[in-house]
Amino acid sequence: MKSIKKGRDRRNGDDYIKGSIKRNTAKKDKNRKSGVIKGIITSLCLIVTVIVIVKFNIGDIDHSMHAIKDASLDYIYVPEDNKLQKKEVLVCIDAGHGGKDPGAMTKDRIEKEETLILAKQVKKYLEMNNIKVMMTREDDTFLTPKQRAKMANKANADMLISIHRNSLPSSKKTNGIDIYINFQQTEEDCALGNDLKYYLERAGRMNVNSISPGSATDSKENYTVVGKTKMPAALVEMGYMTNKKDNIYFDESINSYALAISKGIMKYLEEH
Ligand SMILES: [Zn+2]
Repeated sequence: MKSIKKGRDRRNGDDYIKGSIKRNTAKKDKNRKSGVIKGIITSLCLIVTVIVIVKFNIGDIDHSMHAIKDASLDYIYVPEDNKLQKKEVLVCIDAGHGGKDPGAMTKDRIEKEETLILAKQVKKYLEMNNIKVMMTREDDTFLTPKQRAKMANKANADMLISIHRNSLPSSKKTNGIDIYINFQQTEEDCALGNDLKYYLERAGRMNVNSISPGSATDSKENYTVVGKTKMPAALVEMGYMTNKKDNIYFDESINSYALAISKGIMKYLEEH
């Protein structure tokens, strides 16, 4: 069998070689084709994966990147021409509620505690930038809104920022940060509101609603801490304690929010 095969092979040597080359070329072509097809399939899979990720998760990716970016923001705000460093300014930070007045309450959250944590963090960031800060309260003390305004006036503060958290049990979907300014809406009031809004929008995932004059119930009636103070003032409601997502966003970015408030304050002081 072997010799016959050999003979045949020898006899048709050229044909055999040609055949084998043909076969090899065909094989190579086949391999090349399947390689190209594999490449195309891999590329298509990649494109589809990217499209799916982008289409279904763009909000989350974008926002979480935002949050991560802001969490590592430089803590020191350096004004361009150092105008702020030359100014002798005093900022009053008011942590809403306290003592017998808990503010809003949900199953596991108390407003007076959350406002104090955030207020203390704002104070820290301002002091890191050599800004003098006074607090209306630094522990669980009860103060009326009038007493708070009086404290800031007496100390001749240059600005008051009152920190709160919102609550609306009847509509748990209502969400976002609200900034209240004096209903008279002077150039200063609006600038302060805008500076706070600008940085808060960049700090975390909570919506920032439009700036409101007056109070939540009456646009012609100020909150006492805003209306009775002699200096520019704003009251900031840092999201709704009755909204699940607002609480998540508040907790995950509390330092970024504190930094944003301090930057808004410094931006305003630098320009006024
Ligand atoms: Zn409050």
